[in-house]
Amino acid sequence: MRLALIASFIMASVTAMAMPLNTRQDLANESLAFKYNHIAERSSTISTSTSNTSGKHPAVATARAPTGNNVRDGVYVSCSKPGVFALTFDDGPYQYSWDLAKSLNKQGISATFFINGKNWVNVETDSVTTSEGKKTYMEVVKHYKAMGHEIASHTYEHKELAGLSEAEIEYQMNTQSNIIYKAAGVRPAIMRPPAGSYDSNSLKVLRKLGYSVVTWDIDTQDWLTHDLSQEKVAYQIMDKDTSSTIGHIALEHEVYDQTVNGLAPWAIKYVKSKKYKFVTMSECLGVAAYQ
Ligand SMILES: [Zn+2]
Repeated sequence: MRLALIASFIMASVTAMAMPLNTRQDLANESLAFKYNHIAERSSTISTSTSNTSGKHPAVATARAPTGNNVRDGVYVSCSKPGVFALTFDDGPYQYSWDLAKSLNKQGISATFFINGKNWVNVETDSVTTSEGKKTYMEVVKHYKAMGHEIASHTYEHKELAGLSEAEIEYQMNTQSNIIYKAAGVRPAIMRPPAGSYDSNSLKVLRKLGYSVVTWDIDTQDWLTHDLSQEKVAYQIMDKDTSSTIGHIALEHEVYDQTVNGLAPWAIKYVKSKKYKFVTMSECLGVAAYQ
């Protein structure tokens, strides 16, 4: 079983690396890129940390990097307190979003949606058929909030941020903030970098723009497997939890039928059986949701 898992991971890695950049599958590839970029980040943090004293933005330390046992390299990887669980969905909105938000609300669960403006759909121009009729995606974004969920940023075009310039990062974040504001009247203060890709420069820019940066500690790899038996494996870390274990942040993607109709219902039952309280990202971290 273990060998089979390792083999499937290697296969997945080879497949992912062989794919051309910017394919849809590659864009959804959060976890593999996270592993690679995270290694790069560790070394770049050291080499660039003293190079910010000149240039256009001398006042670099605009927001302090968070610290704590739920933070790695200035990025939140889990909640800041025990007993809570943050269910998060990336890459939407898409055709399932309206009804997913509604279904979670009916179950008394508040989740967090890390959304793009132009990824699987163009939020500003596209529409979708839902159980409540045709809706624009701008209405879908507003609906997340109306259903008690939190809206967070995942950049405008699902851009991997490592290596981008300050101007490019500002464009991605500000364009997305403007769309969310136009749709729902709020500007997000929490973001998740696509593919978990960031470097010291992008973290600096994101902090300057007022964002708390979040990844995850439960990676279902749903975008890759579309298979519940494999997705369940990521949740096994919870079997070792004690009453003092800090709460979890689970990564899933709302753009797949299997995630919405297979993984999410199973995960909700599982997390409830562990007696965790579902919380939004801001409550999980103890930071502001909106700017
Ligand atoms: Zn993503």
